[in-house]
Amino acid sequence: KSGLRSCGARGNGLRGREGRVDQYLYHMRLSDETLLEISKRFRKEMEKGLGATTHPTASVKMLPTFVRSTPDGTEHGEFLALDLGGTNFRVLRVRVTDNGLQKVEMENQIYAIPEDLMRGSGTQLFDHIAECLANFMDTLQIKDKKLPLGFTFSFPCIQTKLDESFLVSWTKGFKSSGVEGKDVVTLIRKAIQRRGDFDIDIVAVVNDTVGTMMTCGYDDQNCEIGLIVGTGSNACYMEEMRHIDTVEGDEGRMCINMEWGAFGDDGVLDDIRTEFDHEIDMGSLNPGKQLFEKMISGMYMGELVRLILVKMAKEELLFRGKLSPELLATGRFETKDVSDIEGEKDGIRKAREILVRLGLDPTQEDCVATHRICQIVSTRSANLCAATLAAVLRRIKENKGEERLRSTIGVDGSVYKKHPHFAKRLHKTVRRLVPDCDVRFLRSEDGSGKGAAMVTAVAHRLADQHRA
Ligand code: BGC
Ligand code: MG
Repeated sequence: KSGLRSCGARGNGLRGREGRVDQYLYHMRLSDETLLEISKRFRKEMEKGLGATTHPTASVKMLPTFVRSTPDGTEHGEFLALDLGGTNFRVLRVRVTDNGLQKVEMENQIYAIPEDLMRGSGTQLFDHIAECLANFMDTLQIKDKKLPLGFTFSFPCIQTKLDESFLVSWTKGFKSSGVEGKDVVTLIRKAIQRRGDFDIDIVAVVNDTVGTMMTCGYDDQNCEIGLIVGTGSNACYMEEMRHIDTVEGDEGRMCINMEWGAFGDDGVLDDIRTEFDHEIDMGSLNPGKQLFEKMISGMYMGELVRLILVKMAKEELLFRGKLSPELLATGRFETKDVSDIEGEKDGIRKAREILVRLGLDPTQEDCVATHRICQIVSTRSANLCAATLAAVLRRIKENKGEERLRSTIGVDGSVYKKHPHFAKRLHKTVRRLVPDCDVRFLRSEDGSGKGAAMVTAVAHRLADQHRA
């Protein structure tokens, strides 16, 4: 493996605190050269995940989704959708009408999933999901209808068909027992049967990346990549069937859920992971897993900043060496704080406000440094996403054998949508890394909610066509 170098601290004439933070976080500031190297490594991982003999040991699993068609605009009907695995758990009703111009109407309800349910027994979790569904159907007075349902389940799953999906392993904040290795469709069906007060027809399980690609595919036929940078991070894209060894058939394309959060789980990112990345991992619910996701996504971004603040304070580089119980508490510095600090015209003042809330007595220099730490951590996140996206774009370009690729990426997720500079930085870096692609980024309107209904609607249309 070629040794990677991060980009050096800017000019040594810089003596202020900002210069010091930059030097301190030298390894988090990745040069384009490094990003291109990471992109190359990711490309290898993609191939490993797709190949018959290499798939079993691949860390990036490249999971087939059995989604082959994107919406064609003739879908219609009334659908239910569940969305589990993002910031909120939601139940939705989506009505698609097709009289000339397709129209989509939706209603949705957010339900809480208490932490003890996220980490309790699987039976409890699925009973809760069924109960929320029942409540929603009660409210809309549709409990007597047997509606088709799409389930956005944003975790790595092995699918054998659209409506069978075995959870590989929980990620993010979930760790409910007895679900890994099981088909989540069966688990929901059973939970609904246990209640016995309504019935539904589960048509599809989709990853949120897939839902995101599908919703954007409505507005732009070139949409062939779905990206999520939210609580977790992942992407999907349309791959040629002939390259997917793990599914039979050579015709057409199929959407691949890459599960890129697991990039690096076999050690290939060890040279760019910092002590803070190690610390995040050790303290997580799934140590050793989802190492790339932990460098990027919203679940970890604020915590990374906090760990850096603590370490620098301990080394007396910040807060005159003073710590506070709040600063020492896991989770107290949130990803939202990163966005707020970077978003304000006067980010330094915002930093002060947040540091004071954490029981600290920051100097002006401390506030400037905190602002800079946030910038470095969130920029690294955007740059790493750009590196993997660049690999995907190259791959699609080669698949199509085009001189110049025109491609659209559907995007969703709280970091992408709420961080004030993330999207802009991501776009810029992608365009620098793959100058021979014209990339369009399309914000998905509720990819994980509406997307599941879209997949369900397409499945319905195809089933209708088969019957006809
Ligand atoms: C999950 C993916 C999901 C991503 C974004 C990751 O933790 O493994 O399936 O797409 O989060 O929600
Ligand atoms: Mg979501």
